[in-house]
Parts: sequence; C-alpha cells; structure tokens
Amino acid sequence: MKIINPATEEVVAEVEMAGAAEVDRAVAVARRACATWREVSPGDRARLLRAFAGLVDAHREELALLEVANAGHPIGNARWEAGAVRDVLHFYAGAPERNHGRQIPVPGGVDVTFQEPLGVVGVIVPWNFPMLIMSWGVAPALAAGNTVIVKPAEWTPLTALRLAELALAAGLPEGVLQVLPGAGEVAGARLVEHPDVAKIVFTGSTEVGKEIAAKAAAQVKRVTLELGGKSANIVFADSDLEKAAKAAPYAVFDNSGQDCCARSRLLVQAEVYDDFLQRLSAAVTGIRVGDPLDESTEMGPLVSAEHLARVRGFVDGTPYLQGSCPSGKGYWFPPTVLTSRLTDRAFTEEIFGPVVSVVPFADEAEAVRIANDTRYGLSGSIWTRDVGRALRVARAVEAGALSVNSNSSVRYWTPFGGFKESGLGRELGPDALTAFTETKNVFISTD
Ligand code: NAD
Repeated sequence: MKIINPATEEVVAEVEMAGAAEVDRAVAVARRACATWREVSPGDRARLLRAFAGLVDAHREELALLEVANAGHPIGNARWEAGAVRDVLHFYAGAPERNHGRQIPVPGGVDVTFQEPLGVVGVIVPWNFPMLIMSWGVAPALAAGNTVIVKPAEWTPLTALRLAELALAAGLPEGVLQVLPGAGEVAGARLVEHPDVAKIVFTGSTEVGKEIAAKAAAQVKRVTLELGGKSANIVFADSDLEKAAKAAPYAVFDNSGQDCCARSRLLVQAEVYDDFLQRLSAAVTGIRVGDPLDESTEMGPLVSAEHLARVRGFVDGTPYLQGSCPSGKGYWFPPTVLTSRLTDRAFTEEIFGPVVSVVPFADEAEAVRIANDTRYGLSGSIWTRDVGRALRVARAVEAGALSVNSNSSVRYWTPFGGFKESGLGRELGPDALTAFTETKNVFISTD
C-alpha cells in the first residue's frame, strides 16, 4: 500500500500488507513466544520495558517526524505523542513486579490467587493517534506477560513498524511484539477470528466495534472496545467565560477534530450564549492551520481524501464561522463553527473533523438531558464556578471521562473508556493490567 503524506499528497512509503496467511504465521510465532516471555522474570520484564521506553525517548524526534509525514500531525503534537508513548511504557514497566495475587483466608487450607497472562493479544489501532493508541494496548499487555500482535490502521502504519524495531533493539525476545500492517477486513478480521488469539483490544468506529464484539462472543474471546464519541462541552453562565472560550477550540479542533474525545457538541447557557459565541469566534479565528512541520502550526490536515470528503458532507449551508486553511495540495478543512438544532446530523453524528456545533440550554436539567441524548458516552467537560453543580452534572452525564474547567480526557495514570456505545472496558490507569490477565484461584488443603 502506498502511504501518503496528507499535507502534501506525496507518497512517503510503500508498505507490504499482510493477508490471512501472514496473520496465521504471526499468531503461531506469538504463541511460541508466550512460553519464552513467561520465563522472563518480572524484574527482567520491567527492565526490558524500560529499555524499550528509553529507545523511544532516544528516537522521539524520528518518531514524531514519521507521524507528521504519515498522519499530518503538527510537529509539536507529534513530539508530545512520542513522549507519551515513552511515559506509558515506563508506567507499565512498574507493573510486572507488582502484579501479585492474594492470599484469602478459607477453612481447611490455604487459598491463593494468581494473575495469569491471557496468551496472544491482538491490538487493532485506528489512524487518528497511531503510536499513542498502540502503546495503550501494548504496554499493559506486555507487562502482564502476554505476547502482542498489532494491526495498525491501513493509512498509518509507519510509527507502529518503527516501534516494533525499537522493541527488538531494546532486547524484547523475538515474537513478543509483532506489527502486521493489513486491511481491516482481512488481517484485522483474521486476528479477531483466530482461535489462538485470546483477546482483542480494538479502538475504532462503533460500527466495526459491534462486528468485532459479535465475532468475539462466538468464541468467548476477551475484548476491550474504545469506540466513537459525540461528547458535550457544557458551559454554564457562572463559568470563567474567557477561559472556557479560549479552551473550547482545542476541545474539538485538536488533531483536526480527529479525536474520539472531541467535545463536538458545545452547550452554552442561554444568558451568555451571544457573549460566548463572540469570544469563541475570536479564539477560532486565531487557530493557525497549515504546514505540520512549522513549529507554530496548531492544526494540520485531515488524514486522507476520503475522510476529507466525509467531513465536508456534514457542512451544508453557511456555517456560523470558518477559520482559514491552506488551499492547494493536502487534505485541508478549516475549523468550523455551526449553530445547530438538536436534530441536525452535525449535532448528532460523530464527524471526526474540525467541526463544532453550538446550542443554547436553559438550565442544569436541560444541559444534562441534551448531553445524554446520544448513543455515545465517551467524554465531556463542565465549565462552572459552582463546585456542587460541577459534581452533580459530572455524576449525571453518562460518559466515562469527564473534566471540570478543563478539556483534558486522557491521563495515563487514570482509567479511560466509554459508557454506552462508546466502548466496553477501560484502558490505562492502575487497573488496566486486570484487562490483560485471568485471575486463577488455587486451594491447597492442609488437612
Ligand atoms: P475503523 O473502525 O474504520 O478502523 C479501526 C481499525 O480497525 C483499523 O485498524 C481498521 O483496519 C480495523 N478494521 C476495520 N474493519 C475491521 C474488521 N472488520 N475487523 C477487524 N478490524 C477491522 O476506525 P477509524 O476510521 O480508523 O477510526 C476512527 C474511529 O475510531 C472513530 O469512530 C473514533 O471515535 C474511534 N476512536 C475511538 C477511540 C477511543 O478511545 N474510544 C480513540 C480513537 C478513535
């Protein structure tokens, strides 16, 4: 497959695509590697993960430049992403030596639990944050003693391939981490169907997630699903409006809106609606869209021509406001603000582009009702100075990752995942390891 730079439309690489036969071979290798990986002591597993993290750090600039060329991320963001991959590896490097079971008091003997690895884990990754999302699955899965096969998204395999080389260079035994670029319906589907793959970690669209969940159910295969979102950014009249307005563009235009946590529904209390829109306009107009290699760029292109066409399809009529973007080569779309009705497609469907829909609300109850009127439940923000209200609304909104007076969603120390059709299970945080282990109970009679 030809890999295209979305900012220039130039071919930057050609990548061999795996078919079902290659997946089968990789699974056989991964199964054999399970035995090797199990024999590596927890302390050595930790050291290998730290060595891997160290090499990611040493190659941070190279990884960042690859992501710029492959996914069009602004260089500053891409550097941050490479640093976050390193941090996630370090975080889970602390886990192998603390992955202990329990001793439970029972009559007649001793009862102990073990946290056993699952075996071969398939990690299926989308194109929006290729290396970052890969690391969320790979780091805890390896720490827990599993071997891993990564299937990157068709359009964005380059950082995943490089990370696999760095893992080998760091000393991870061969076969413990493999990366297989390939088509979703071919290589991805084979990973899901393969009886020797114990678990699938899938991040991507809700539609494909449902298909994977159904196939996995037929084998009682474990799954973690991180799916789509249509998150709400709720701005109350008593909030720091200037701060909320300045932050709002990044809540949805970051990564050109290609972010599952994008707060693409902006709910503003009626009495400050006009005031807020004015402040928001100033912030949106100031967003610097352009060459991802330019250090001052804040927003790059969309990932592909197909995706650009899809995003365009959501904006008919005259938007309330559009920022600027380059013309000519590249898949550019300007930051766009729509004033919407609750039934508009742009307000109800995930666009996955730099488009935000603004609606007014009367009071707290209405804000919660609108926020929850969606099949999704991934993230969201609440802007207010009233602590009681902040907590009431945070508890009432049906979503997995909420923030108050902030638009941040993901911190690797804390659990991340969706309610409703946004997903199943949680990634990251201290508990992610349990998603990559089975609890085994052993009773030893003392009679
Ligand atoms: P996608 O579902 O089209 O593809 C995701 C991955 O699945 C790709 O690697 C693809 O090749 C593979 N795939 C496709 N069909 C498959 C099949 N039948 N069997 C197995 N694998 C298959 O999604 P996308 O367009 O790459 O990503 C955008 C979507 O991802 C958005 O909906 C977004 O919200 C979601 N997303 C969610 C999170 C989260 O953490 N919740 C994070 C990022 C993206």
